[in-house]
Amino acid sequence: MINKTSSNKLFAEALKFIPGGVNSPVRAFKAVGGDPIFIKSAKGAYVYDEDGNAYIELINSWGPMILGHANELVESVLSEALKNSTSFGAPSEIEVKMARLIIEMVPSIEKVRMVNSGTEATMSAIRLARGYTGKDKIIKFEGCYHGHGDSFLIAAGSGAVTMGTPDSPGVTAGTARDTLTAKYNDLSSVELMIKQNPGKIAAIIVEPVAGNMGCIPPGKGFLSGLRDLCDENGILLIFDEVMTGFRLSSGGAQQLFDVNADITTLGKIIGGGLPVGAYGGKKDIMEYVSPSGPVYQAGTLSGNPIAMSAGYSVLQFLEKNPSIYEELNTKTAAICNGIRRNMEELGLHFSINRVGSMFTLFFNENIVNNFEDAKKSDLKIFGKYFNLMLEEGIYLAPSQFEALFVSNAIGQEEINRIIESNAVALRKIFS
Ligand SMILES: *Cc1c(COP(=O)(O)O)cnc(C)c1O
Repeated sequence: MINKTSSNKLFAEALKFIPGGVNSPVRAFKAVGGDPIFIKSAKGAYVYDEDGNAYIELINSWGPMILGHANELVESVLSEALKNSTSFGAPSEIEVKMARLIIEMVPSIEKVRMVNSGTEATMSAIRLARGYTGKDKIIKFEGCYHGHGDSFLIAAGSGAVTMGTPDSPGVTAGTARDTLTAKYNDLSSVELMIKQNPGKIAAIIVEPVAGNMGCIPPGKGFLSGLRDLCDENGILLIFDEVMTGFRLSSGGAQQLFDVNADITTLGKIIGGGLPVGAYGGKKDIMEYVSPSGPVYQAGTLSGNPIAMSAGYSVLQFLEKNPSIYEELNTKTAAICNGIRRNMEELGLHFSINRVGSMFTLFFNENIVNNFEDAKKSDLKIFGKYFNLMLEEGIYLAPSQFEALFVSNAIGQEEINRIIESNAVALRKIFS
């Protein structure tokens, strides 16, 4: 058994002062049994807890640490930036550089506004879509997570499903009424909703590759089908690329699948580990945002110079080293193939979904194409698997309904250890 003395002590203290002992619900190990480990530090492909245990990282701060932890490039940029104060609340050069770089990298973005989190980005994007179109309703997809804004806590994924509260108290009936939920990878469910609500829908918001119900790729024609439905019906298409942006390619999922959005939301990698989000899109839409337009949106710490410096250094690295995506792809494929071989040896047939460096092993023998499929996974087995992997020194997301993220700091040694640990865990559960 791993020693969890210090983590357990800290968690007992945390429970006295913080709701549930954590500052974001999925960090609690509620869905898998046991208490969370407290992280003291992390470097490269490894995190270290308060008891001195080392783990190979497959959470990577839920995506941002694509280059691995405590990256030297990011650290040196940050220490320089710190000398010039931590916040101005006034324009600075790094914001202009950041905006220009994002526009260069993400195909459909012509203007961009920085915010402080993915949640803020999606909330602002929806307000903008409503302001621009003069319509109230939005369509989202079951199991997609777009942060904790009221409009999105309807059939939401990630922590909302893990915690078993898909519809949160505190979200008013009025707000819920304006959010329609369609089925992921099912264009006919979207068509039906558009037909039933003629002229009322401002936007369709979608994770172009779903990551918050576990990793689910878009089926052939799904994204381009959404694009067509939006064009035919005067609806804006919002790609929530908070997770997929700069992860699946330097231009995100929209570049990978060659479908453009009207508005794109960004987060996670864009801050290089600091709290940053952004939303951007076509010029005429973005010009609707204040102060150039009537849709209000603001932020005391938006475009914060420290956060911009970290994010800029990561994005610039990714833009200059596009081969990193091929490397990540190869590494993640090697992990998934190893897991498949392990399963074959034991006569197991669980689904693995993967797009680039995002993947999920579903304890489900059928294809997982939407939220309904994902929910049929065996959560009890997942809980056992999670805890056995932790014992083996592999840090997985503590929920079946999350994607795992591979960082470029992971090398052959870590790949081998992940595959070996998976074999040990599967053997312990199934033989
Ligand atoms: C993480 C995530 C969000 C929310 O971002 P926060 O920074 O946690 O507020 C929104 N959308 C998607 C697709 C995400 O993965």
